[in-house]
Amino acid sequence: MVDRRNFLAAAAAAAMTSADAAPQLAVNGGAPVRSKPLGGPNWGPQYYDGKEQRQLEEVLESHNPFRFSNPLDKSKVAIFENEYAARMQTKYALAVTSGTAALHVAMAALEVGPGDEVILPAWTWYSCYNTVVQAGALPVFAEIDESFNIDPQAIEPLITPQTKVVMAVHLQGNPADMDPILAIARKHRLKILEDASQSVGASYHGKPLGSMGDIGIYSLQQSKTITAGEGGALVTSDPYLFERACRFHDVSVRKDFPSKLGFIPGLNYRMNEFTGGVLLAQLRKLDTIIGDARRNARRVYGGIRDLPALHWRHLPDPEGELGTGIFLGFRSRDERERYADAMKAEGVPVSAPGGSVILPIVPEIEHKVTVTPRWPSFSSDRGKSIRYGRECCPRTIDILNRFAGVLMNPKYTERDTQDAIAAVRKVYPAIVRA
Ligand SMILES: *Cc1c(COP(=O)(O)O)cnc(C)c1O
Repeated sequence: MVDRRNFLAAAAAAAMTSADAAPQLAVNGGAPVRSKPLGGPNWGPQYYDGKEQRQLEEVLESHNPFRFSNPLDKSKVAIFENEYAARMQTKYALAVTSGTAALHVAMAALEVGPGDEVILPAWTWYSCYNTVVQAGALPVFAEIDESFNIDPQAIEPLITPQTKVVMAVHLQGNPADMDPILAIARKHRLKILEDASQSVGASYHGKPLGSMGDIGIYSLQQSKTITAGEGGALVTSDPYLFERACRFHDVSVRKDFPSKLGFIPGLNYRMNEFTGGVLLAQLRKLDTIIGDARRNARRVYGGIRDLPALHWRHLPDPEGELGTGIFLGFRSRDERERYADAMKAEGVPVSAPGGSVILPIVPEIEHKVTVTPRWPSFSSDRGKSIRYGRECCPRTIDILNRFAGVLMNPKYTERDTQDAIAAVRKVYPAIVRA
């Protein structure tokens, strides 16, 4: 016999369960959303077809894989540069061998050297830091905000009379908030170097990333938007910077420039015609690739938008970002980890923000390791006294601990995106409510 009080309690509990209809999480033994984990390979190579193949065949048939052996209207690299500049709405583009090479060329073009300081985000790729140090200048780290990009408000307090350049890096498909960054640069007469390596083709209020600063650079390596395995590009609309960049990337040998600028002791970062041909074919697909990626991401955004208490990654221009990942924020690292474990069990794994490194806490960077001792970057009083490590970027560390996202892929099917939606809808409320 069941007494009345217990009966009512049981009935109420049963009613709640059915009203809530919360399915059992896979991490607690329920059925997963998918059996085969959601995941996709790099974007660009999935679009390889006869177009890239034809470009490569033409280079083979020409017997001239060196760009400067070909006339401008025949060189794959030159044609790529023209179309790249048009796509990025800049006057000039220069093809180089990698994104790191493009950064090195940009440092030389902007005349960054010993005694200069460059402000860069604490969360970005090694190349950003390494090329500042290679130039003999001093890297100064700024905190990121919840866009995972440099926090515009963190820049001004770091400016000194030695500051020459601010690096605005557009990470994981998301533009940095350029309006306040450009305003600070104008006010303090600083140069802006945009690194759009992880956001090739994305835009900010309609302007292509890379076109707003003095120089923009891009990586065309395999894990970026379009690729020939390796590759890089630099854009600018300033003829002086472009000439310096061209000279530096080609040991200063080519003389066909209008000015009397003359020799710069540069290196060789020239692109070959095979790479140029593949990148030309890929560039002509760029808007298809990012269109596919954005369509998939927007489906997922739309499918979860109504969930209560959603905490999104900050998107300074949701129209312009690429939709690389559907990143959500949590109250603690522990909560983020519980979300990650539960999503993995559902077959829709999430990742912490990735593709970059919290540079100031890399032990070798904290200890200012250089190619040889007495490197100019760290031999001045300022270079000796500057401190890296956890103390210079506590907010960056905290933000990166609290976010995780489903990575998107342009080739996901509608079913894949529905699974992503279903998993987030199932897991997120359970984690945030708990
Ligand atoms: C990948 C990357 C680079 C370096 O590009 P490589 O082509 O690998 O040399 C530079 N900056 C950022 C932000 C990157 O993600």
